Amino acid sequence: MTGPPSSRVLALFLVVAVAAIVAGCSDDSDDASTEINVVTTLPLFADIASNLAGDRAVVDSLLPPGADPHTFEPSPSDVRKITEADVIFANGLGLEPSLLRVIGANISSGAVLVELAEAAISAGVSTLSATGLGGPDPHLWMDPEIGNEYAAIVRGTLSLADPGGSDTYSGNYETYAATLDDTAQYMRDTAAAVPPDDRLIITTHDAFGYLARAIDFEVAGFVASGPGQDASPDDVSGLITTIGDLGIAAVFTEPQTSVETRTLEQIASDAGAEVCELYSGALDGTVRTYVELLRFDAEELARCLGDAGE
Ligand SMILES: [Zn+2]
Repeated sequence: MTGPPSSRVLALFLVVAVAAIVAGCSDDSDDASTEINVVTTLPLFADIASNLAGDRAVVDSLLPPGADPHTFEPSPSDVRKITEADVIFANGLGLEPSLLRVIGANISSGAVLVELAEAAISAGVSTLSATGLGGPDPHLWMDPEIGNEYAAIVRGTLSLADPGGSDTYSGNYETYAATLDDTAQYMRDTAAAVPPDDRLIITTHDAFGYLARAIDFEVAGFVASGPGQDASPDDVSGLITTIGDLGIAAVFTEPQTSVETRTLEQIASDAGAEVCELYSGALDGTVRTYVELLRFDAEELARCLGDAGE
């Protein structure tokens, strides 16, 4: 940007001319790239949306990988993403209250906001109650069949926002839905390594009810029913007793729950249980996609609670 003004003007003119030619060319073809802007709350929803959108949309998430949706507070750059979005996907049901407040205040008038959990319930999926908090447990995507419903809702939403891409979205959905079906089967096959009496999950927060239901496990306890709900001494001794009474071999921390993780590590140490890890929403270098998250959790349950480890 150091050249004389005349060359900058020329360079700008060339960019505009090239852009006009490119736009002119693509207008003539059927799959004219409208490139809609899609913003999600969780990185996991951005992964689902990317699978359906292919290169017809720019997809970005507000939460960085590894952040906790329950407590995340958006920054000014997040507000810019919201104002520029054509379509926003959130979960709803109280999962990400701060984000939804900021989205509501900044979403542009022509844009559409879809709360995937609310839409999935409208489509008929059955919910579980959130222990201690009342109302439905918001972590519906932990059941891959409901994840499939989320993907179907994303397909419908993108097709409305960008009708020219509806064939692309439908084709991509069929492929992705088949992958989710395979993943659900893989999870059941993998979890089969755990004997029925040992199918018990203790975690840092109440996020695994739908996963448990999908693979025939039960949630036996957790440190915190919600964000900022610290475990009382009674809760801690109750979990230690549960682990001992039920002969639970391992408990599961989560990458995004630091305070509750330390509490659960102490509980495991006192109860003589192994500490393993499960993912409920955060992504990282180990678990990069929604499908990888589901596969990881099934493998970790089998590894830590299965017969092979004994
Ligand atoms: Zn959660």
